[in-house]
Amino acid sequence: MAQHHEWLGDVGSNSYADQLAVGFRRLRFTPLLEQEYLDFVRNDRFELQRTALPGAIVLWLGFTAVDQLLIESVERWWMLAVRLSVLAFLLVCGFLLIQRRYTQLLNPLTIACISVLGVGAAAVVGIAHGVDPSYPYEGLLLVCMAGYFLAGLRLSEALISPALMLSSYLLFELLVGIPTARLFNNLMFLLFGNLIGIVGCYLLEYKSREHFLISRLMRVLADHDSLTNLHNRRSFNRQLERLWRLAQRDEVSLALLICDIDHFKAYNDHYGHQAGDYVLQRVGQLLAQAGRRPLDMAVRLGGEEFAVLLYDISLDEAQQRAESLCAALEHLQIAHEASTTAAVVTLSVGVACLQPQPGGALTQLYERADRALYVAKGAGRNQVALACTAA
Ligand code: GH3
Ligand code: MG
Ligand code: MG
Repeated sequence: MAQHHEWLGDVGSNSYADQLAVGFRRLRFTPLLEQEYLDFVRNDRFELQRTALPGAIVLWLGFTAVDQLLIESVERWWMLAVRLSVLAFLLVCGFLLIQRRYTQLLNPLTIACISVLGVGAAAVVGIAHGVDPSYPYEGLLLVCMAGYFLAGLRLSEALISPALMLSSYLLFELLVGIPTARLFNNLMFLLFGNLIGIVGCYLLEYKSREHFLISRLMRVLADHDSLTNLHNRRSFNRQLERLWRLAQRDEVSLALLICDIDHFKAYNDHYGHQAGDYVLQRVGQLLAQAGRRPLDMAVRLGGEEFAVLLYDISLDEAQQRAESLCAALEHLQIAHEASTTAAVVTLSVGVACLQPQPGGALTQLYERADRALYVAKGAGRNQVALACTAA
C-alpha cells in the first residue's frame, strides 16, 4: 500500500511519525509500539467481541433448527450432538467473557470460539454429506467471514480458525467419500471466499494501525512545542493537576523551576531571530535532561520562558537542579555581546517546592516560583532564587 504522508517531513521525529514514515506493510510495528497498539486494540474491541458471541450463539441455534428440517435420517442426531457440544463450549466462553476481570482472555477465547464454531460446522456438513451431498456447505464461509470482520481479531489471529476449519472440512469430506468434482468445487468456493476475507481483513487492520499512529501523533503534536519539542503549557497544566493529586495522596513534595533566559530580546535584536530560535532549542535540550524521571516534565511555557516540574523532591535537591541548569547553560558558552549580565547567554530561575495539602490551591506552586523568578531577575539575573517552603 502506498505511503502518502508527505506532511511527515514537517513533523519532528517521534516513535509514531517514524513508524508512519517507514511503513508497516507486514502489519507489525517496532516491539514497544506493537505492545501499545495491542493494548489499544484490546480496549477498542472489547465491546465488539463481547457482543459478537451472543450473536454467534443465536445463529448457531438457528442453524441447529434448520438441520432438523433438512436431514431426516439418524445422522441428524449426530449433527445435533455436534451442535450442542459447540453450543456448550460457546456458553462457557460467554460466561467467562461476561466477567470483565478476564479481559486478558478475551482474544484467546474469541479465537477459540471461532475455531470451535468452524470445526463444528465442518463436522456437521461432513456428517450431512454422508447422506445428502447437496446439504448446504456455504455456511462455513459465514463462520470465516465472522472471524475476519466481526470478531475484532487481527489478521494473524483471524487466520487460525479458517485454517482449522478448511483442513477439518477436507478431512470429513474425504471420510464420508463425497464425489471428487463436488469436493473440488466446494473447496474452490471456500478458498476464494477466504481470499476475499483475507484481503478485506488486511485492509481493515492496515487502516486501524494507520489510524492509531496518526491519532497518537496528533496528540503528541497537540501537547508539544514544535521548536523545542518540550511539552507545551496545556500539557503542563494537565500534568500539574495530575501530580498535585498524586503528591497529596503519596504525601510527597512537588517542585517547580521557572526559567527565563536573560536579556533575550537584546539577543534577538543583536543576532537575529533565527539565532534566537537556536538558543531556545539548546535551552530546551538542557531542560529535557533535567526533567527525565517518568513523572517529571520539562515545558516551554511560552516565548523564552521554560519550566521543570519535579515530583517527590526536596527544596535542596530542586535548588541543586536549578543551579546545575544555570551552570550547564553558561558552560555552553553561547556568546551574548548585548547582555549586561555576562558575556554569554544566561538563565534566571525561580524555585518553589511544597507538599500539596488538601484544599490547597493548585496555583500556589506556580505563583511562588514566578515570584522567586522575579526576585532572581531583580537581584541581577543569572542566578537561582527560592520561594519559601511552607504550604
Ligand atoms: P529579561 O532578562 O528581563 O528576561 O529580559 P528579556 O529581554 O529576556 O525579556 P523580554 O520579555 O523583554 O523579551 C523576551 C523576548 O523573547 C522577546 C521576544 O522577541 C523573544 N521571543 C519570544 N518568543 C520567541 C521565539 O519563539 N523565538 C525567538 N527567537 N524569540 C522569541
Ligand atoms: Mg527573559
Ligand atoms: Mg520572559
